[in-house]
Amino acid sequence: MSVRVVARIRPLLPKELERDAIVTAASTDDGKPPTLVKIPNPKNESEEFSFAFNSVYDHSTTQEQLFTAEVAPHVKALFQGIDVTIFAYGVTGTGKTHTMRGGLKLADRGVIPRLLSSIYRRAKKIMKDSEGQTTVDVSISYYEIYNDKVFDLLEPLEKRLPAGLPLREKDGKTMVVGLSERSCDNLKDLEGLYLHAEKNRATAATKLNAHSSRSHSVLQIKVTQTTGDQVKTSTASAIDLAGSEDNRRTDNGKERLVESAAINKSLFVLSQCIDAISRGDKRIPYRESKMTRILSLGQNNGITIMILNLASLRSYHLDTLSSLNVSSRAK
Ligand code: ADP
Ligand code: MG
Repeated sequence: MSVRVVARIRPLLPKELERDAIVTAASTDDGKPPTLVKIPNPKNESEEFSFAFNSVYDHSTTQEQLFTAEVAPHVKALFQGIDVTIFAYGVTGTGKTHTMRGGLKLADRGVIPRLLSSIYRRAKKIMKDSEGQTTVDVSISYYEIYNDKVFDLLEPLEKRLPAGLPLREKDGKTMVVGLSERSCDNLKDLEGLYLHAEKNRATAATKLNAHSSRSHSVLQIKVTQTTGDQVKTSTASAIDLAGSEDNRRTDNGKERLVESAAINKSLFVLSQCIDAISRGDKRIPYRESKMTRILSLGQNNGITIMILNLASLRSYHLDTLSSLNVSSRAK
């Protein structure tokens, strides 16, 4: 099991001011790429805290650079049968969705569309090189975890069961029972499915008066390679987690309270799993929430990349500090 933890500091937006920027990337040695994030101590600003990561990407990092450095190298492993999970963690507004989904312009495309095309290219190459001996099937599932319930995003809203879909462990992996899986034999259809699901997600959020920053979204790309009677399957998961800020603070209505409890609980369990792993504990409390069961940190033999998204603004100071505390222990 390996978890690689990287931090990405987003650039300031046009309306944000340079003088409010307090988070910086730093190197342990001059000339080396940054692995440290520095932030002032909120209680004594002349003091600075420093958090270490496997890698730190500053505001100048492009979508392509991040993908090439952190995700592309694992596509080969995926086709060797190893599961690959990439998840974005951080405060709302720090760039999780930008990192995972990104914008529509080619250069703005995030991890998910790049991963889809990379998988697709490799599948095609394998089929071609094997001269028809190997077939590769690529299918996707897409769901969200909202209030600790799993909802299929490939199915229309009317089909949603209020209780959501159950989880089950099978061959040491956590599966969502009854989740739909759509296979596509070209990239355009795959991308179309993903966009359609995104629309379902937005509609659901509007109808429930919820906000997408309050649910975890999980895209799974299953690769099945068949050669004669040999079948090899592996899954790439791309997860955009709910905002890690203290969700109690912005609350008013009862619905928001239920949401907050669920988000706080699952992210709290995630931080407990990370702590248990970093201490080398045998018992990791991943079964305590659906999100952590699905992530199965420390349970699987796959490759896991955690991307901590950061905005360098002073207004995020305390929430940023707490997200740094949690994620830097995961390394
Ligand atoms: P989150 O999903 O964590 O709430 P978003 O991805 O929605 O955050 O990002 C918040 C805002 O910052 C958006 O307007 C987004 O376009 C912008 N943004 C985030 N990361 C970057 C980046 N690396 N480059 C440019 N703009 C970014
Ligand atoms: Mg988001």
